[in-house]
Amino acid sequence: MTTFVDRVELHVGAGNGGHGCASVHREKFKPLGGPDGGNGGRGGDVTLVVDQSVTTLLDYHHHPHRKATNGQPGAGDNRSGKDGADLVLPVPDGTVVLDKAGNVLADLVGEGTTFVAGQGGRGGLGNAALASARRKAPGFALLGEPGEARDVVLELKTVADVALVGYPSAGKSSLISVLSAAKPKIADYPFTTLVPNLGVVTAGSTVYTIADVPGLIPGASQGKGLGLEFLRHVERCSVLVHVLDTATLESDRDPVSDLDVIEEELRLYGGGLEKRPRLVVLNKVDIPDGRDLAEMIRPDLEARGYKVFEVSAVAHLGLKELSYALAGIVGETRAAKPKEESTRVVIRPKAVDDQGFTVTAEQDDDGQPVYRVRGEKPERWIRQTDFNNDEAVGYLADRLARLGVEEELVKAGAREGDAVAIGPEDNAVVFDWEPTVMAGAEMLGRRGEDHRLDSPRPAATRRRDRQAEKDEADQEYDTFKPF
Ligand code: GDP
Ligand code: MG
Repeated sequence: MTTFVDRVELHVGAGNGGHGCASVHREKFKPLGGPDGGNGGRGGDVTLVVDQSVTTLLDYHHHPHRKATNGQPGAGDNRSGKDGADLVLPVPDGTVVLDKAGNVLADLVGEGTTFVAGQGGRGGLGNAALASARRKAPGFALLGEPGEARDVVLELKTVADVALVGYPSAGKSSLISVLSAAKPKIADYPFTTLVPNLGVVTAGSTVYTIADVPGLIPGASQGKGLGLEFLRHVERCSVLVHVLDTATLESDRDPVSDLDVIEEELRLYGGGLEKRPRLVVLNKVDIPDGRDLAEMIRPDLEARGYKVFEVSAVAHLGLKELSYALAGIVGETRAAKPKEESTRVVIRPKAVDDQGFTVTAEQDDDGQPVYRVRGEKPERWIRQTDFNNDEAVGYLADRLARLGVEEELVKAGAREGDAVAIGPEDNAVVFDWEPTVMAGAEMLGRRGEDHRLDSPRPAATRRRDRQAEKDEADQEYDTFKPF
């Protein structure tokens, strides 16, 4: 039953990169005028951006699948494909982004704060860009990379300055309605009564927000009732207000023990709430019995260090004093907070480690050795390879060898015929390792080059050529990845 709109699962799909184009320039009297296939366009990103005019996650509850546009493929005549458009999803201030395991990926606070939830795939290089002095006419192009597909969970922690806590029917909602000048639009929620009420209070020159935590009952911190769901909403508040009911008398309850129960729940919940400044509101003093009880328990509460306010939400008693006292605490907290450095923070989900790779010796289900290669570059190269094109596969082998994958495989103990898997367990490309073929490819010459036309080169020249190609590959990489 706990399908709250303040917690939604969102499936984002960034745009795929467009494929590079393999094309050869043609002109009259010059039928093979060189490679002129353009690069594919980059796929669009999916980004979450804080927009303070958005107050709910309801949109994502109704439409949880969001996809950015794909990059266009490259074309002949050196035409690059168009980049896909980024998809910008506005989210409320205070939205927390988690992965499905519950790890916090980002905490989005402040207008314009941005989280890249899915990164668009790069476009593939066309054969014009792949051509080099040694590889004059590549007969292949690189594939565009798929855009990142991710499932994230969005949780809304309302950024309320003041949080009202207390037993059901203590008068929290009533207080908000009489204290606040404006109500942000929250009526869209399907579970109106379970949603924290939120109000905007103006006291003098201070404007602050006030929220209640419905359904906070004993055991809430263990997930009993709905209080836990809602404590999340007030985690960021600067002051807690205990709202105590002085007029409803039940045999097993009195305002002071109600307060103790709520305090215990806050302590168990933790999250910093237990240390927040708090004050006590004794509500319903318009009722004579209520006023009597309030007078009776006031000294006890003050002795515990609480500032106590006697109010009536119904008869509008004591409201002004209360709202100014709250404004004072909120103002102090704001003054003490460090100024936000910049209004626009862009958070990227993971560090881009494009340098290294690892080779680990593993065993498959039948106990056969599998050598697993992991790393940004090799995994990306796999995705960029058109395995139906031998030349493209050869180019991949060259790239892997140049990165040093062959050497590491040898060091890890791999032998001819062993399975080599590139990529994560659930999504790897597996080869039977043929080191001689790879070495042979090296000896035969690189792609687009025919060794039979070359006279044997001295080792020093070969080393220099190798370095040149390595630089070229790095450069290709650098110019290609735009972040
Ligand atoms: P909440 O569950 O804490 O949000 O409590 P509500 O604001 O919904 O109030 C519960 C009940 O108490 C409602 O019937 C209100 O009309 C009543 N109530 C709230 N404040 C006062 C008050 O100051 N005086 C009196 N007499 N009744 C009140
Ligand atoms: Mg209520």
